[in-house]
Amino acid sequence: RSAFCMTEPGVASSDATNMELTAVRDGDGSGDGSGDYVLNGRKWWSTGIGHPDCKVLLVMALTDPEADRHRRHSMILVPTDTEGVKVERLLDTMGFRDEPYGHGELSFTDVRVPAENVIAGPGRAAEIAQGRLGPGRVHHCMRLIGLAEKSLELGCQRGLQRQAFGKPLVALGGNRERIAKARIQIDSARLLVLNTAWKLDQGGPRNALSEVAQIKAAVPIMAQEVIDLAIQLHGGGGLSSDFPLAGAWTSARALRLADGPDEVHLGTVARIELGKYVSRSSTKGGKR
Ligand SMILES: Cc1cc2nc3c(=O)[nH]c(=O)nc-3n(C[C@H](O)[C@H](O)[C@H](O)COP(=O)(O)OP(=O)(O)OC[C@H]3O[C@@H](n4cnc5c(N)ncnc54)[C@H](O)[C@@H]3O)c2cc1C
Repeated sequence: RSAFCMTEPGVASSDATNMELTAVRDGDGSGDGSGDYVLNGRKWWSTGIGHPDCKVLLVMALTDPEADRHRRHSMILVPTDTEGVKVERLLDTMGFRDEPYGHGELSFTDVRVPAENVIAGPGRAAEIAQGRLGPGRVHHCMRLIGLAEKSLELGCQRGLQRQAFGKPLVALGGNRERIAKARIQIDSARLLVLNTAWKLDQGGPRNALSEVAQIKAAVPIMAQEVIDLAIQLHGGGGLSSDFPLAGAWTSARALRLADGPDEVHLGTVARIELGKYVSRSSTKGGKR
């Protein structure tokens, strides 16, 4: 298993070009591509580091501060047992620790790896990340749709079984309409994700830049709202760990930040949309 180490505690990591952990080339006097990279810095929110089988880190490191901002960073493979790699602590997400995967804060002190551990060559981290992010985001959204679907099912069952004021809970107040709207939200999101996956299949990541950003912005908030309805239908119990809803809600909430905050994805959608009508230079704003 692996963990992806991009985000850093010291910089706004919504902007991937901000990363400061350095990887400095050492000992390539022969010019034959041998030698090492030495890494120094700190990462956090490295998901998966807590897993006992996590053996390799994909570290996004600054290798050429003078290069164009999208060519400054490299993706480097670092075995977890390399000297100088230290898991300082595991972070929780609103009280949940996501065992056994866990999100870690790591320090890198004079961590030495062979130069051949740089994936695809220096300066290509942004390119590698972009290539992988589309399918990864589709996957996040598929899991969220499953969570929303399960939560709605639990909410409906609970609301049909329990009675208050002489009626099943689902028949009280605006609950029937809320349930109907949740079904519409889930099905709309599912079709949006399906369309995105289809466009990725047809033409790869560049063919679906807006669609991937659309689902990343739309699906977590959809899931958060549907799960919230199910929590409400469960009453106080919905907030407890007796039911899976509090954990599901936290997962949806976290995915409004993990893999980039909503605002960055909305910025991408807006940039592409406006780019259809105005010159490219006047629509810059979103970064990824
Ligand atoms: C559960 C979880 C798992 C994660 N897993 C990983 C992982 O495996 N590997 C990894 O490297 N990182 C991981 N992350 C980190 C995640 O990718 C970052 O938290 C995220 O990219 C935001 O970076 P930041 O926290 O530094 O927020 P900042 O960059 O400080 O941004 C803070 C806020 O500023 C606002 N903002 C930022 N940019 C814009 C914009 N363009 N327009 C408008 N507003 C904006 C947004 O409201 C944003 O939430 C994970 C995070 C969580 C919560």
